[in-house]
Amino acid sequence: MDYDLGADADALRQRLRDLIHAHVPADFLGACTDDPADLELCNAFCRTLAEQGLLCLAWPEEYGGGGGDVWHQTIVREEMWAHHEPRGPQYMGVNWVGPALMRHGTDAQRAKHLPPIAAGEVIWCQGFSEPEAGSDLASLRTRAVADGDGWVVTGQKVWTSYALMAQWCVLATCTDPDAPSDRRITLFLVRMDSPGIEVRPIPSMLGPHHLNEVFIDGLRVSREDVLGEVGAGWTVMRDALAYERVGIARYARCESLMQRLLEVLDDDGRWEALAPALHARWVRALVDLRVARLLAYRAVGDSSGVDPAAAAVARIVTTTCDQNVAEVLVDAAGPDALDAGADALLHGAIDDHWRYAQAATVASGTIEVQRMLVSRSVLGSSR
Ligand SMILES: Cc1cc2nc3c(=O)[nH]c(=O)nc-3n(C[C@H](O)[C@H](O)[C@H](O)COP(=O)(O)OP(=O)(O)OC[C@H]3O[C@@H](n4cnc5c(N)ncnc54)[C@H](O)[C@@H]3O)c2cc1C
Repeated sequence: MDYDLGADADALRQRLRDLIHAHVPADFLGACTDDPADLELCNAFCRTLAEQGLLCLAWPEEYGGGGGDVWHQTIVREEMWAHHEPRGPQYMGVNWVGPALMRHGTDAQRAKHLPPIAAGEVIWCQGFSEPEAGSDLASLRTRAVADGDGWVVTGQKVWTSYALMAQWCVLATCTDPDAPSDRRITLFLVRMDSPGIEVRPIPSMLGPHHLNEVFIDGLRVSREDVLGEVGAGWTVMRDALAYERVGIARYARCESLMQRLLEVLDDDGRWEALAPALHARWVRALVDLRVARLLAYRAVGDSSGVDPAAAAVARIVTTTCDQNVAEVLVDAAGPDALDAGADALLHGAIDDHWRYAQAATVASGTIEVQRMLVSRSVLGSSR
């Protein structure tokens, strides 16, 4: 396969960089900070991307997309992650909520939900994990009990990223506790301000407002809110997680941080003074990042859709790079890596990257579970 994305791709990258340069300050570090202006900036930037047809570049035009291909969308996500993801939480709607709706939603759901995502007007969150059901999602216990022509939902979610910022959630529930594990789960599209939903933030080193608990008590949902078939939520989740895993181009963030730190260290002669062993780790990390990029491209390039095992391979390598690069950056920058504030090295991005990297091999499914998924695919086994 030829991974040269061509002159078009270079022009698109430059256009995105110019937009980021014009709209995103150099010290921006993502939406989950103490400053509410950062989330505002993300929302405004998404609208700007959308107005230029760049937010959902690979979506069909009928849904508000730009009619581009998956490689164009790959370039968008790489440039966004290389600049601390100025789409903020909206990357989730673009990456997996939209594709899940296109594949499993009804015409009415597509008409209702896809245009606002493509216009950069809505934040979605993912209500899958529960206190006793993270890796083993099939055992989740949030119950949707049939009631009249709908259901009443009661239960609890945990680690729900961006739940306080989100207007909508893809909520995984158990509709039939006696059914086999692949027929127990039903997904609902729910408004986060519905009566019966309460969000409580979980303080963490990922910054305020990232992780949350979601308590659900007596939430009413209807048949129109079901995503996919009743009892067939597992199929939708498997697709959604594959799209999510391949859609987070953190390898691009790692490469950009390494490049920027190299420039800073080179400027004042510190680069040459680093120990040869650290230079060797630096080069090894760069090679691993190229491998991560190519594995992501392999998953994206599969014309039959994103294969969960290929997405898992790409995710394993990217998150391992995340952690390795975090250590290399901290060792190369020395104590300056931990400085905060306006004058901090790379505006505090190394510290920010190190903190998130610790969670990278857990978020979106742990690395152990990803390895199991790959081994099952290689061995052709379902258990
Ligand atoms: C930053 C971050 C953001 C997140 N965002 C979201 C979100 O938006 N929405 C959401 O629904 N969830 C989210 N999660 C939750 C995440 O998906 C779960 O934490 C993850 O799937 C692991 O589940 P758990 O925490 O219950 O750990 P467990 O499943 O209890 O795992 C504990 C340990 O046991 C290992 N383990 C478990 N089962 C097996 C097995 N069968 N074989 C071998 N080892 C095993 C795991 O690998 C892990 O090391 C997020 C998590 C993080 C860290």
